[in-house]
Amino acid sequence: MAPSPPAQQAPGVVVVFDFDRTIIDWDSDNWVITKLGATDAFHRLRPTMRWNPLMDRMMGEVHARGKTAEDIRECLRSAPLDVHVVSAIKTAAALGCDLKVVSDANTFFIETVLAHHGVLGCFSEIKTNPASVDVDGRLRISPFHDSATAPHGCSLCPENMCKGKIIEKIQAIAGAEKQHFIYIGDGKGDYCPSLKLGEGDYVMPKENYPLWNLICSNKQLLKAEIHPWNSGEELEKTLLKLVNKVISPPAQVSPVDCSKCESVTTELGHHQALRVPH
Ligand SMILES: [Mg+2]
Ligand SMILES: [Zn+2]
Repeated sequence: MAPSPPAQQAPGVVVVFDFDRTIIDWDSDNWVITKLGATDAFHRLRPTMRWNPLMDRMMGEVHARGKTAEDIRECLRSAPLDVHVVSAIKTAAALGCDLKVVSDANTFFIETVLAHHGVLGCFSEIKTNPASVDVDGRLRISPFHDSATAPHGCSLCPENMCKGKIIEKIQAIAGAEKQHFIYIGDGKGDYCPSLKLGEGDYVMPKENYPLWNLICSNKQLLKAEIHPWNSGEELEKTLLKLVNKVISPPAQVSPVDCSKCESVTTELGHHQALRVPH
């Protein structure tokens, strides 16, 4: 007998979340650097280094100050996550949407925060810079794209990550089956993927942030429908309105059915996967 399909399903709805200042209302790199007392080193090195290698270097600074990977985890767990965003994630997952994170932070930070708030397993994929703890207990952060061996060639994006290329890959895997994308972000790096969206897709830019400003500079360049938001509450309202509009026939929300949230698969390519216990 064929296995019965899941009770809740929204076939073809892919929700892609940026992480910093989108899922969380703060910036995880800044949070860790500030809370673990590495601000001076950050300001000293910032003029000479690109962001991604700088973050790896900052983890070295933090380690040199005697802070362990567990201290970094504790620090990330102490940061807030808007209850409306948690609810939006759980509800969209319960409705059967395929949730993904595409972020220029790193696996360690993102998995720690999402696991702490019980929503890590709501996501099918986290596309971000790989992170691992080395033998000395120092957190290492590597680029998502290796610019030396495989440059992504996109002039809009930082050399370690082109989110547009990531979206194109997700679209290609979807293939002929029509998928509706909902992309939620705030930053400059979220503009390239927004341009890759097509008719029937949606972009949710955080109002008055760089992505919103770039979109407003020429709205004609986007094929996706634009739905701004400016708080966790509005993110939830807007996202669920769009999901309900796309899914047909309209599905019922089961009260916090987050059985999927027990496990997570993170694609880390050739890099070592880092598990966050929870
Ligand atoms: Mg962001
Ligand atoms: Zn790009």
